[in-house]
Formats: sequence, structure tokens, C-alpha cells
Amino acid sequence: MRKQMGQSTQSIWGGEQEHELFERSTQVPVVHSVSFAYKDIDTWQKVALGQEPGHIYSRNTNPTVRAFEDKVKTLEGAQAATSFASGMAAISNTLATFVQPGDRIVSIKDSYGGTNVIFNEFLPPLGIDVALCETGDYVQLEAEIAKGCRLLYLETPTNPTIKITDIKRLAAKAHAVGALVVVDNTFATPINQLPLELGADIVLHSASKYLGGHADALGGVICGSHELVEKVYHYREINGATLAPMDAYSLLRGMKTLKLRVERHNSNAMAIAHYLQSHPMVEQVNYPGLASHPGHDIAKQQMSGFGGMLSFSVKGGLEAIKLFLPKLQFAHMAANLGCVETVVGPPVTTSHVECSAEERAAAGIPEGLVRYSAGIEDIEDLIADLEQALGVLK
Ligand SMILES: *Cc1c(COP(=O)(O)O)cnc(C)c1O
Repeated sequence: MRKQMGQSTQSIWGGEQEHELFERSTQVPVVHSVSFAYKDIDTWQKVALGQEPGHIYSRNTNPTVRAFEDKVKTLEGAQAATSFASGMAAISNTLATFVQPGDRIVSIKDSYGGTNVIFNEFLPPLGIDVALCETGDYVQLEAEIAKGCRLLYLETPTNPTIKITDIKRLAAKAHAVGALVVVDNTFATPINQLPLELGADIVLHSASKYLGGHADALGGVICGSHELVEKVYHYREINGATLAPMDAYSLLRGMKTLKLRVERHNSNAMAIAHYLQSHPMVEQVNYPGLASHPGHDIAKQQMSGFGGMLSFSVKGGLEAIKLFLPKLQFAHMAANLGCVETVVGPPVTTSHVECSAEERAAAGIPEGLVRYSAGIEDIEDLIADLEQALGVLK
């Protein structure tokens, strides 16, 4: 027997064998039941006290939701996982579990728009100080960490600038001051990057993106040690931001093809990045798989694939984008990413919709940027589609 399953086997079998088959069904059933009944008080009490396995009430735990958590846990190589109604619920519940008034958080300026709102708008009035550093400025990041902090929060690659941060290097600095390290692994997925192996304490996801992969279910998940996950689980079971069983099922089914899909996302994005780089109307292409990307060397060390997300700017800015994006035949113009279809959009309507033009400029996000989530279509069709759409620009 091999010591560890490969990632395709993990995607398919991970978590599934830990559950009793229901009426011999081969697939995890969708258990919609709100509660679980017992025939005697003693067993009920043992399960309620966690002395015997089982479920009590679906706000806390549910068999379908548990199977989803176990699959993600297997893929991330973690002891434990717990899940949430959305990626933002995973992020906000994790932060609320670990930071108290008077604590400091160190993070980067380029994290997801919603995460940035928590850092800039929600936490400071609670007496939580957030030091947001330039992504990739290790002098600033290490100086802020060295001042002491409760939590280092990283996201790599970032949205929509596709910047890379060295997880191992900063996790070591954070641990030296006793801080917890949390990494948003949504863009990379466990197929391309395993933050816990790089020193993170908690890895989290918006499962609404690549994990589910079909843009038909919202969800979030965190993984880590039994001890840390138990704390976040306790906050979530009371806070009530629970993942619904039907969504858990959709995510679980989507995840069976995670490895296959991510391999195709990786190769399509790489081919598109190369194509765009030599297009006369394209000014800049951000993709960590390109040797010209400033984070390429770190990405090569900490990632086993460069992911399906890229961004690029075109000559003529936002006006040019308004002309050519609607011409794409095989791409949704939409706010999501990480699904089987290609999805495109500018930051003004996607990741940075809540920012002013000045704030976007300050964050280094050009108005003429296009975020491109490469789907798993045939690469020849995607490139031909870009060729005809970009052809309208002169
Ligand atoms: C979408 C996204 C989130 C938020 O997830 P939701 O499921 O939409 O709440 C967080 N982080 C990243 C990197 C994302 O792309």
C-alpha cells in the first residue's frame, strides 16, 4: 500500500470512506435533516458530549457537510477542517475567533476586496490594529511582524494583481513572535499549493471558486490542527454561518474532478499568458508562470502549478475593454472565477467594485486591467476567441 494517496485519488476518495454507506448508496447522500434522533438518552448524551461519533443538530454538524470537510482536509494534508456558508464567512469567523481588542494583524494590501473591507472598516473600530503592507515588500512586512502581532494573514496569488508572497519565509518570522499564520489558498487550490507544509497554521478557501468548480454553490472551509479548527468550529456553531447540506453535496461532487480540472486550468492559463504576451494590443500580462513575473522564482518553489488566474492590461484602458470583452464568445462577463467556463471582468465590476478610482490607483490596479479566469475549454478555441475579440482594437 502506498503511504499516501495521489491527488486524483484524494479528490475522488478523500473523506468518502470515513462514512457509513446509506442503504448501500455509493454516493454521499444529501441529509437535509435539521436534527438527529436517538432511541435512548444515554447514547444521545454521549454523542452530545462528543464521547461517541454522531450528529445532533445540523447547525453544528451534518453528515453531508462532514464528508465535504473531510475531503478538503485530506487534500490539504490537515488534521481537521470545518466549513461555512461562504468564503467570507470562513474568513470573518476565523478572524473573530483569534483576534481580540488590542491585538494586531499584519497583512498585505492586495488581498481579496471583501477581506480588505474587514481589515479597513470592521476591525479598527473594535480596537484591532491592522498593518497592511505592500505585497512583496519583505522589508516592510518583516518590520511590521517584528513589532509583534497576533496574526499574519496572507493570500497568494492575489486577486486581481496575481502577486506572489513567500509563505515559508514570512511564516517563520511570524512564528518567531508567536503569531498565527492564516493563508487564503482560494486561487492556488491544494493541487497547486499546500500552505500547511510551508508553515501556515490555518489554510482557508472560498469553496465557491475552484473547489466546487461549477459556480453553482457557495461555501467556505478552513483546515489546520485539531486544536485550532476546534476553536473556529466552536465560534461558527454559535455564530451560525453554517454550510447548507445541498451546497456541501454540490461542492463534494465538484471536487471529485478537482485534480483533472486544475491541471487543465493551469495549462490553459499558461498558454493564454504566452499568447497575450506577444499580442500588439496587450501592454502587460500578470501570470506567475511567466519568467518575467516578479514572483516567478518564489512561485516555482512553493507551487506545483501556476494556477488558472491571470490578468492583463490593454492599450486604450477601460474604453478598449468595454469594446473587446463583450465580443468574447466563450467567456462570461461575471464577478466569479475558478469554474469550468472562462470568466472575465475588469476590477471596476469585480474584485474592486467597492473602491473609488483613487483607491484603485493607490492599490496599483490599472483601470484597463482584465481579470481572466481560464476555463477548461479547448485551448485552441480560447485563443481563437481572444484573437477575434482583440481584433476590434486598433
Ligand atoms: C471569492 C473569494 C473570497 C470570498 O469568498 P465567497 O465564497 O464569495 O464569500 C475570498 N477570497 C478569495 C481569494 C476569493 O476569490
